[in-house]
Amino acid sequence: MTVESDSKTLERLDEQEGHEGALPKSLEFYRGLLRIQSAAESRIGAVELNLSGETIGDRIRHGTPVLGFDDLAIDWSLLQNVFDEVAALFASYQEVLREVPENLGGADHRLSPSKEVVQAWYEGARLPLPKATSDTGEALLTLIIHGAFRPFLIRHCEALLKLVNLEQWRRGYCPICGGNPDFAFLDKERGGRWLVCSRCDAEWPFQRLQCPYCGTQNQDDLAYFTDDKGLYRLHVCERCRSYLKTIDLRQTEDEILLPLERYLTLDIDTQAHNDGYRPGSASRKEEGGETMRGNSAKGDES
Ligand SMILES: [Zn+2]
Ligand SMILES: [Zn+2]
Repeated sequence: MTVESDSKTLERLDEQEGHEGALPKSLEFYRGLLRIQSAAESRIGAVELNLSGETIGDRIRHGTPVLGFDDLAIDWSLLQNVFDEVAALFASYQEVLREVPENLGGADHRLSPSKEVVQAWYEGARLPLPKATSDTGEALLTLIIHGAFRPFLIRHCEALLKLVNLEQWRRGYCPICGGNPDFAFLDKERGGRWLVCSRCDAEWPFQRLQCPYCGTQNQDDLAYFTDDKGLYRLHVCERCRSYLKTIDLRQTEDEILLPLERYLTLDIDTQAHNDGYRPGSASRKEEGGETMRGNSAKGDES
């Protein structure tokens, strides 16, 4: 799974740099982020959780993601360290991330997310920030938390995904952490569609002819565009104006590293944005009538 694929991705990016002399800035940024995340994954190690098979089965049947905030096993001081490293990386790639304030990571602007802020982010709620916080500031903080929290969620996902009966899920949000999918693939075997979580990289099967974000099955609202080789697809929904990037694994013999594909396909994001589509946000529908918004997937980091 992904701890392993992160180190493979790093190797592949180093190889590409060796062949081409230099990486495009966006990939260089991504490699920097991945180095921080990969080192953190090593430090976190295997996660042990107090979730019984019965609890996991119950939650899945009721549409509740397996991993509630209170279930997370987090070393908060390590999270703060990772957060500082990610913030410093963002500050040094202002040309990639146009909206980064220059003083980010500076001594007097040291960001430190409280537990409340992290919990709100995790649960897809509005972040409890000081009133003076600008929209840009909030969006940026969201991206940095996303980057810093990923190694922890990857480790949790690694421990949990194998315990989940995915055939009982088939929802538009992640069965592990409740995050939004920001990538999809069609599997080699039968062209079945799988969604990939933007936060923990979990993969789960989903209906091909349905929008994972608004749930519409009205085929008049759903469309996709492909590249010349038929390898990549851009799925769009006219009802909720969202888009989803997809790779068709039947069209290639190469080993595909899905997290890397997010960054190799940034021009598809640009195309989608120019056409007026946005990354989607899935509504959680849990038994008992509770409905909440998932966290907005930020696939557009450059
Ligand atoms: Zn997830
Ligand atoms: Zn939709």
